[in-house]
Amino acid sequence: MPQVLALAAPNATAPLARAFIPRRDLKPDDVEIDILYCGICHSDLHTARNEWAVWPTTYPCVPGHEIVGRVSRVGSAVNSHKVGDPVAVGCMVDSCQTCESCRMGLEQYCDNGQTIFTYNSPDPHGTAPTTYGGYSQAITVHQKFVLRVPPNLDLAATAPLLCAGITLYSPLRHWNAGPGKKVGIVGLGGLGHMGVKFSAAMGAHTVLFTTSENKIADAKRLGADQVVLSKNRAQMLAHNRSFDLIIDTVSAAHNLDNYLSLLRRDGTLVLVGAPDTPHPSPTVFNLLIPRRSIAGSGIGGIAETQQMLDFCARKNIVSDIELIRTDQINEAYDRLVKADVKYRFVMDMKTLN
Ligand code: NAP
Ligand code: ZN
Repeated sequence: MPQVLALAAPNATAPLARAFIPRRDLKPDDVEIDILYCGICHSDLHTARNEWAVWPTTYPCVPGHEIVGRVSRVGSAVNSHKVGDPVAVGCMVDSCQTCESCRMGLEQYCDNGQTIFTYNSPDPHGTAPTTYGGYSQAITVHQKFVLRVPPNLDLAATAPLLCAGITLYSPLRHWNAGPGKKVGIVGLGGLGHMGVKFSAAMGAHTVLFTTSENKIADAKRLGADQVVLSKNRAQMLAHNRSFDLIIDTVSAAHNLDNYLSLLRRDGTLVLVGAPDTPHPSPTVFNLLIPRRSIAGSGIGGIAETQQMLDFCARKNIVSDIELIRTDQINEAYDRLVKADVKYRFVMDMKTLN
């Protein structure tokens, strides 16, 4: 089995450090990818620090699910990618591929519970106890889970589309964001800034909610029609009962009633942020009158992720990134906790050598 260099968390409290990890020998349907860039998602940090009780971390843990690279080898049955192609891998590397959800292109919701996430999932190939992600030099993935990167997209700034991008694109499409709709995005981090870009590009009236006063100008530059400081009660009340859809990307527990009361009749609050502790339960009356919903959404399927990349190519959309070296990873994590990133860290994986 090939060994490759990676950045691994040895336990929940130690910094990430360089380590060698195994990758499986190439199988007929496999694509081997030389990783060029990997984005840093807040989920990487939640996992590296074992913050999610519902999904405990197995160590060593190699995070990373915003992967862009070039194909270095292909198995004998691979027909969709060839050596040298720019390609990408997101949050999943396999699923049962036979259940109704998988057949509908919703592999992240595999009915058999066999979605294999890019890291911290049981490794069905037995290469290691768990899957290892993109904080590494190379990865080997079944061809069906490898995306094509359109040629006009900047490779480093494309990496965050594979998680932050699709996680906002999918609910915006599912809940029909578009002209005539008023859409709110809560939190201007990695996910939130893609939400603002996509909602605006889809033609919805887009409002960004932030706790950070210093992000107001950026939010407008990214496409928000209006920006609301969520700690300012008067600014919040001015939007009472007016939203069709609000997508909440916040990584920490907070009061949901503040957002529920801004939804119009039949409006939906979609939670995509995944805090380590539960949100306080919202007031039921805020749901009853006027018939509002709270929903959740997880990443997006493979076909929709390709559709999103092609949409980005047509609309000239990529992520706003801070490109860093791999030895800056621990500092980047500390800044992520402080909501101090504009708006996604991406590692230049060549600096791992
Ligand atoms: P991020 O870049 O750290 O952004 C989170 C943003 O939330 C911050 O920039 C900040 O925005 C706001 N925020 C943070 N702490 C807050 C607090 N205590 N109160 C209010 N606002 C706060 O994180 P991310 O990578 O976008 O990920 C966001 C969350 O989504 C994480 O929990 C992650 O695990 C989860 N996630 C879910 C999915 C899914 O499939 N559903 C996929 C990927 C990630 P402002 O400064 O503008 O207030
Ligand atoms: Zn992610």
